[in-house]
Amino acid sequence: MIDFLDTDIKFLQGVGPKRAELLNSELNIFTYRDLLFYFPYKYVDRTRFYTIAELDPDLPFVQIKGTITGYATEGRGAGKRLTAEFRDGSGSLKLVWFRGVKWIMQNYPPGPTYIVFGKPGIFNGMINIIHPEIEASDRVAERMSSALQAQYSTTEKLRNNFLTSKAIGKLVGTLLKQMTFRLPESLPDYIVSRYKLMDLNNAMHKIHFPSTPGELEQARYRLKFEELFYIQLNLLRFRNNRRSKNKGFVFAKVGEKFNNFYHNNLPFSLTEAQKKVMKEIRRDLGSGIQMNRLLQGDVGSGKTLVALMSMLIAIDNGYQACIMAPTEILAAQHYQTISGMLHGIDIKVRLLTGSSKRSLRKEITESLLDRSLNILIGTHALIEENVKFDNLGLVIIDEQHRFGVEQRARLWNKNLHTPHVLVMTATPIPRTLAMTLYGDLDVSVIDELPPGRVPVKTMHFFDHDRNSVFGFLRSRIEEGRQIFIVYPLITGSEKMDYKDLEDGWDNISRVFPPPRYCISVVHGKMTPSVKESSMKLFREGKAHILIATTVIEVGVDIPNATVMVIESAERFGLSQLHQLRGRVGRGAEQSYCILMTSGKLSKEAALRIEVMVRTGDGFEIAETDLQIRGPGDIEGTMQSGIPFDLKISDLGRDGQLIEYVRNIAEEILNDDPALENSGNHVLATGLKKLFSKRQSWSDIS
Ligand code: ADP
Ligand code: MG
Repeated sequence: MIDFLDTDIKFLQGVGPKRAELLNSELNIFTYRDLLFYFPYKYVDRTRFYTIAELDPDLPFVQIKGTITGYATEGRGAGKRLTAEFRDGSGSLKLVWFRGVKWIMQNYPPGPTYIVFGKPGIFNGMINIIHPEIEASDRVAERMSSALQAQYSTTEKLRNNFLTSKAIGKLVGTLLKQMTFRLPESLPDYIVSRYKLMDLNNAMHKIHFPSTPGELEQARYRLKFEELFYIQLNLLRFRNNRRSKNKGFVFAKVGEKFNNFYHNNLPFSLTEAQKKVMKEIRRDLGSGIQMNRLLQGDVGSGKTLVALMSMLIAIDNGYQACIMAPTEILAAQHYQTISGMLHGIDIKVRLLTGSSKRSLRKEITESLLDRSLNILIGTHALIEENVKFDNLGLVIIDEQHRFGVEQRARLWNKNLHTPHVLVMTATPIPRTLAMTLYGDLDVSVIDELPPGRVPVKTMHFFDHDRNSVFGFLRSRIEEGRQIFIVYPLITGSEKMDYKDLEDGWDNISRVFPPPRYCISVVHGKMTPSVKESSMKLFREGKAHILIATTVIEVGVDIPNATVMVIESAERFGLSQLHQLRGRVGRGAEQSYCILMTSGKLSKEAALRIEVMVRTGDGFEIAETDLQIRGPGDIEGTMQSGIPFDLKISDLGRDGQLIEYVRNIAEEILNDDPALENSGNHVLATGLKKLFSKRQSWSDIS
């Protein structure tokens, strides 16, 4: 039985070696099991017909009924295509084919009624459907009994080899017919019955070939439940293991350095949220168990201070601490802030980045080993082989999502004993997503901004209103304020991006000419020293305007800069826009964020801009982002990668189910921590099967 599902896909009737190779390389389908778990990404209701008048390019796949009135050939070269005018009572559209022209014209002569199925698009202002499925309408009547037709995603390469969605569905059908046994249940019986789940065998058939929407829903629920449940069970087991196993250094006291700082150097009082988080961290540090804490807080909520105070506790207890930041600018900024705040206190802080000089490196290496260096701040230069700590007690990772899991692991391993770890993220993560991405970490949240902040006013302007924006900027400069202007940088079209920035710079220098105005520029192609001197000009208030690519996204703290202009704002993701906006509004002055866009916005872009103008709440923005785009695309999680492949669930949409199954998993582990009860045997085996290869990930995330 098990062996059957492990059979090489090439042996399935209708596959063969050549198609097997394609299934391997394009869809990662190697075995019967892989095919079985290749779930449809949606279902099309083939009983529903649209009229042409109802169509718009935002609709997914649609079905329409009408006649072809005539064919034409358009374009030339690679763009050469066959088009057909297709009409129903309500209007007409174009059907378009780039291949198979002869066959189409022969098989679908003008005249009879056809059913056309495809994704509407738009070209030259007219609705079209490229490479539609097309059938004579009398033939369609036969298969209307099963209304829900599964759609499988394919690739161009697969389709060119006739492995269309339809063909894949057919292969799945063949496989299910050959499966004469029942799939063994992968959840304990008591779970299946208590939570009223469809059994696995049934669910597997129905997910591919549902007869009713209700049945499909049950099958889906069952499979999602299982997938999410095992993920949570795994995360919670790791968290429990870590808590019971990983001894942590005990930072028993709050000592002289901390108190000195707190009483003499702290320029303001802590917010209630900062106090609460400090309490949580202190409890962890004194507990004897290694801390693994995620600190979430919106931009500007004061995470740096929390980081600094935590490091002081480490130092007071005789340990070293380090902060790792994702960019040189941010590391340099931390270095400045932190050295500044520690003024007059005997603590040695150093900055290590890729561009640090040899002599400084040498000094750092030596003072790390003789314990005279207390705090090391840096970029990923910190995880280079030759950086060795003598007694690293606390690791702080800022803007966590920019570091890969492996990079983090290397910092962990810099010590014989695992240091305490505080991960700080400036991009708020929706609760349920955090539950999965960081499900084995403890979470602290700073949910309050320091007092006296004036909320940033966000405005949207189209490019053609640029002149009124310039007028606005001029009056802000007259008032003595400074301005950021940011251009997008999108990997893959670097040349174009710099062109945007350079054109913009030209334009802005004409509007704000020297010597009256001083403009400073920062972008990723500059050497660090040039970058730093540009930043310095702006930081010291000598430049009125800073033109930059997104290198300034994180960390830059310049209270006198009160306007953030984001060019081509439609090209940025939501969390990035929010981050950028967070660069202003840091002083007592009213600040502004101006989103510049072209006149034509996609629905999604318009929604992003609308959300930005409406709210300043990072958590609300993150939720919206998750809704719009799904977690795979959320900036940040992309780099760190979701460490497992979700076959059916959607972290964005299935938030409630995630909470639900997490509670169930928690209950089970409370009763049976090692999953030793005979009723839970299935779970222990299931976990082993699913996660054996990935255990090392959870250790370090
Ligand atoms: P982030 O959480 O985005 O890293 P920062 O740590 O950079 O935020 O803090 C933003 C600004 O708020 C800094 O200028 C910092 O000095 C200031 N700040 C932090 N905590 C407080 C507080 N309790 N009261 C007033 N200002 C604060
Ligand atoms: Mg920060």
